[in-house]
Amino acid sequence: MHYKNTTAVVTGGSKGIGASCARLFFEAGANVAVLDISEDGSGISDDRWFCIHCDVSNNLDVSNAMQAVVKKFGGIDYLVNNAGIQRYGSVTYTSEEEWDLVMNVNLKSLFLCSKYAIPYMEENKKGVIINISSVQAFVSQRIVAAYTTAKTAILGLTRSIAVDYAPHIRCVAVCPGTIDTPMLRESFALSPNPEEVLQECIDMHPAGRIGVPEDVGELVLFLCSDKASFITGQAIRVDGGLGITIGGSKRN
Ligand code: NAP
Repeated sequence: MHYKNTTAVVTGGSKGIGASCARLFFEAGANVAVLDISEDGSGISDDRWFCIHCDVSNNLDVSNAMQAVVKKFGGIDYLVNNAGIQRYGSVTYTSEEEWDLVMNVNLKSLFLCSKYAIPYMEENKKGVIINISSVQAFVSQRIVAAYTTAKTAILGLTRSIAVDYAPHIRCVAVCPGTIDTPMLRESFALSPNPEEVLQECIDMHPAGRIGVPEDVGELVLFLCSDKASFITGQAIRVDGGLGITIGGSKRN
C-alpha cells in the first residue's frame, strides 16, 4: 500500500490508536496531519508531519484545522475520526454535563470533522473516512451508558456518510476490542488491582491477548487503500474474538 502524495488527517493522533494510524500513514509515504488536544509524542520532525492543536468537539477549531491542513498539503484524502474519551456511569449516575461531554467528543466531533473534510474530498472526487467506534457498539460493559451510546450511534453516521457521498467517498467504522493504550491504562488505574483487570481482559479475548494499537492501525491503512475499494458503510471488528463469546470461553 503506497500513500505517497496523499494526505491523511488523524484525530487524537498524539497517543494510542491514533498515534499508530498516523505513524503507519507516515511510513507509507503520506502527508500526515494530527489533530489533538495533547502534545505530539511521536518525535517525528518532518515536512510531511503536521500537528495542530484542535479540540475536535469545537466547530471553529475543526473548521480552522481542516483549512490549515489544505493550505499546507493541498487537500485531504483520508480522515481517521479516532479521538475519543472513556467515562464511566450508568444512566442514573451520569450527570448531564458528562453525558454532553461524551457525546460531543465521541460523536459530534465525527460529524464536525467529516463536515469540514468532505468538501475537500469532493473536490478531488475521492476520499475515505474511517470512524473509530468500539465493540461496545454491539455489546456493553456495565456503567458505560454514554460511551456505548455514542459508539453505537457512530455506526448510523457511518452508513449515512457512506450512502450520501458514494461512490467517490467511502466511509467505514472500525470497532476495536481491548487495545493497550494510555486510555486503557488510565481505566485500569481506577481499579484497586489493575493487574487483575488486565488478566480478566486477556481472558475475555479468544486470541489470548489484548490488542496493540498497530492491530487497529494496519486495518485502517488497508481500509483506506484501493484494495478495500468495495467496502463502505460497514462496521469492521478488530477484537481478537471478544464479540463472539458468550462467557465460559476462558482457557485453562
Ligand atoms: P487515548 O490513548 O486516550 O488517545 C486518544 C487521544 O485523543 C489522546 O491524545 C487524547 O488527548 C485525544 N483527545 C481526547 N479528547 C480530544 C478532543 N476533544 N480533541 C482532540 N483530541 C482529543 O485513546 P485510545 O485508547 O487510543 O482510543 C482511541 C479511540 O479508540 C477512541 O475513540 C476510543 O474510544 C476507541 N477505542 C479504544 C479502545 C481501547 O481499548 N483502547 C477500544 C475500543 C475503542 P488526552 O489524552 O489529552 O485526552
